[in-house]
Amino acid sequence: MHLPTRLAPLPPRATRAAKEKEKAEKAAKRKAAEDAQKKQQEGTDVSSNDYGDLPMIGSQEYKPSGVSRTTLAQISEKYNETTPIDEAGGVEVCFRAVVENARNQSAKLSFLVFREGLNTIQAVVAASDSLSRQMVKFAGSINAESVVLVHGLVKKTPEPVKSATISHLEIHIKKIYVVAKADSQLPMQVQDAERPLPLEGEEIKEEEGARPIVTLNTRLNNRVIDLRGKHNRAIFAIKDGVTALFQEFLRNQGFIGIQTPKLLGAPSEGGANVFEVGYFATKAFLAQSPQLYKQMLIAARFERVMEVGPVFRAENSNTARHLTEFTGLDLEMAFEEDYHEVVEVLENLMLYIFNGLKSKYKRETDLVRSIYHVDEFKLPEAGKVPRIPFAEGIQMLRDDGLEIGDYDDLSTPDEKRLGALVLKKYGSDFYVLDQFPLNIRPFYTMPSHTAPAHQTGAKDPNSGYSNSYDFFMRGQEILSGAQRIHDAEFLCKRMKEHASPVDPNSDGLRDYVNAFRYGCPPHAGGGIGLERIVMLWLGLPNVRLASLFPRDPNRVMP
Ligand code: ATP
Repeated sequence: MHLPTRLAPLPPRATRAAKEKEKAEKAAKRKAAEDAQKKQQEGTDVSSNDYGDLPMIGSQEYKPSGVSRTTLAQISEKYNETTPIDEAGGVEVCFRAVVENARNQSAKLSFLVFREGLNTIQAVVAASDSLSRQMVKFAGSINAESVVLVHGLVKKTPEPVKSATISHLEIHIKKIYVVAKADSQLPMQVQDAERPLPLEGEEIKEEEGARPIVTLNTRLNNRVIDLRGKHNRAIFAIKDGVTALFQEFLRNQGFIGIQTPKLLGAPSEGGANVFEVGYFATKAFLAQSPQLYKQMLIAARFERVMEVGPVFRAENSNTARHLTEFTGLDLEMAFEEDYHEVVEVLENLMLYIFNGLKSKYKRETDLVRSIYHVDEFKLPEAGKVPRIPFAEGIQMLRDDGLEIGDYDDLSTPDEKRLGALVLKKYGSDFYVLDQFPLNIRPFYTMPSHTAPAHQTGAKDPNSGYSNSYDFFMRGQEILSGAQRIHDAEFLCKRMKEHASPVDPNSDGLRDYVNAFRYGCPPHAGGGIGLERIVMLWLGLPNVRLASLFPRDPNRVMP
């Protein structure tokens, strides 16, 4: 039988209200006790002024401290492995750095690693009578990539710290303030940027349990974080170094730096690879090279000119070595009798750059090569750059089993193959290929003196060789150059008979041709791709890695 449940009689309404009141009073008491305890704890936070978020610098709340600061580079230089630290308990320092990582080891101990440029150093925050646990917790919880201001003591470490570049020192933190906080969730980690990308065509080998490789695309989409990788800093220091060495060498040789226009009224070099841009009511074109202007300046009696500037190419080349905007290192110079006078300057220039990189950028080079393992770049032992006539290069390839015509252009695989053969024969990763077939060079190239182009009524004026050359690093082209035609009439003839003829009277070429009517000395020069040098010096798998914000057919952002 189902018996009805016996319900307890309800307390009278007044009693119920009293109970509720009693409950509320108890909760309030408990909260007051908790608040008091918290307050007391805060009151006893001996470090309450020694950590926290700084007001934004520039705001009214921010009061400059005036405390003089040092840098990690200065600390590591001043207290090197042999200098004793005299002050008992360490030397007081104050510096700003980035938190590479932070972790709470326990309630009483946190570890951080600070980064500044290529330097990293470990730091500890340990609770004591004068340093609160709250501060330990705060420091160990700072988001990676935040910018912090640190006051601390530099001490020698009993054991080298493997995870930091400054391994013989550590910082014992006394105060730490966040100057600029990084989000807790970043689109990618800096450590991800520091892992190697696969080479072209190489399979991604992922170790079990390791973080997945972040693709080049993701890295480039988040380039600000990507560039924080130490090797990236090194890549761009080297790139800057190449530019400086280029200018230094040439200035010492009497070259003057020039800036030629990048907006042109007409596509002057004849090719289809030119970007068209709106120009008020009409249109303009982005310069594919400073070629014509460099030569006009030789005609203007500048004798020796050089330029470091952007070069735009509307080539739909989705390769690991082509960009649509790259940096051209260009030069042009008058010579006396033989264009090889200029080839020699160019060879010495490149050797100066390579030797400068070896002596001044060893640390950066080693750092990048520790990620992208590549053989040491071999310079010619005898100090003499192999200068190989094109015909001889073709013969070397044929002897190696390649079927190729005398005047055929070299494909990228052919170039790489020849590079390997030259390395074997001459022990050099750097060489020059001279006397290219005329028909694969631009209209302004001087034909070899034996070329039919110098005879009137020649059957094929584009056959034969030319006074032109390419320079190679590890079997890839880095420089293209030639003796240019400095005689207006001969130039007009070559323009018309070239395989891709151009009109000497066209808007883009008239002034250029006229420049040679006023007496211009014989001259030659070359154009070098800065990003290519950096890529090949370091063995990077992609030229994009040598461009801060690369532009290619699929990317014009960020
Ligand atoms: P490639 O045959 O490699 O496409 P190119 O013959 O068109 O080069 P040049 O016009 O002679 O090259 O340019 C001179 C130098 O500029 C090259 O040797 C190379 O170092 C660099 N360069 C040319 N095109 C590019 C590009 N699209 N991206 C990056 N560098 C380039």
